[in-house]
Amino acid sequence: MKNFAYLIFMVLLFTECLSLNGQLEDDADLETLGKWSVQGNQLKVIAKQPVENNTLYVQNMADYWKQIYEVLPKKGMDKYVTELELITDGPSETLAGVKPTDESNQTWNFGIDPADLPKGKITENQDFMHTLIHEFGHVLTLNNTQIEPSEAEYQVGEDRYLTMEGLAFKKSYINQFVQEFWYKEDRIESWDEIQSIRSERKKIDRITLFYLNHKDAFFTAYAAESPEEDIAESWTYFILKERPQNDHTELNKKLLFFYQYEELVAMRSEILATIF
Ligand SMILES: [Zn+2]
Repeated sequence: MKNFAYLIFMVLLFTECLSLNGQLEDDADLETLGKWSVQGNQLKVIAKQPVENNTLYVQNMADYWKQIYEVLPKKGMDKYVTELELITDGPSETLAGVKPTDESNQTWNFGIDPADLPKGKITENQDFMHTLIHEFGHVLTLNNTQIEPSEAEYQVGEDRYLTMEGLAFKKSYINQFVQEFWYKEDRIESWDEIQSIRSERKKIDRITLFYLNHKDAFFTAYAAESPEEDIAESWTYFILKERPQNDHTELNKKLLFFYQYEELVAMRSEILATIF
């Protein structure tokens, strides 16, 4: 079976220094410390390999999971998230990641690095909250109601955007988002061309340049990495920022994009109610 890579999000990238790519990097550096099946805020052990000094994290995970579950939209969590995995690459870099449990994208694995768990309440840690909301954004935009499995290796026309997880349905959030923000000027073409670069270092250089050339259009450098990251970052800012007064800038347009969906506005209120 295909090995699924985590869609990870790194602290490093808050500094606008684009480093390793979340989707390109494999999980080679991530060690699994334990794995649970998840039902709402409850955990059941599937596999546990407590490593010395990490036993404590594993024991505390039930409490942490309750806190994490508490701040994310319940319906979405209950429907899609079926696994919790403790993954670590040591402090910083990877904080968390999500990946589908199989090719159907119906259920998802939530990976958390215990080395980066905030000491106090998670809601008081901005980076961690940002990461959780971002990761939930991937589940929201790449699950089986949004994407269908596909054998296609390249974009097949502009009607339906091809993600790493499959082909986006026409009306899916990500397809609508790509139609509005990526199929304009020559953005998707230059991005596609970057994707075909073989050298990882050159690719990162080009993505950085791509970001610098379109700085007004992205919330962070990380968002310029792909439409998948762009929608997850924009979703995160939609949750955390005020509703914009006008649509004069592309960033405002990106925030307003989410306000056309009632269910997403409801999720925003649900998350904000737990933070403030
Ligand atoms: Zn991401």
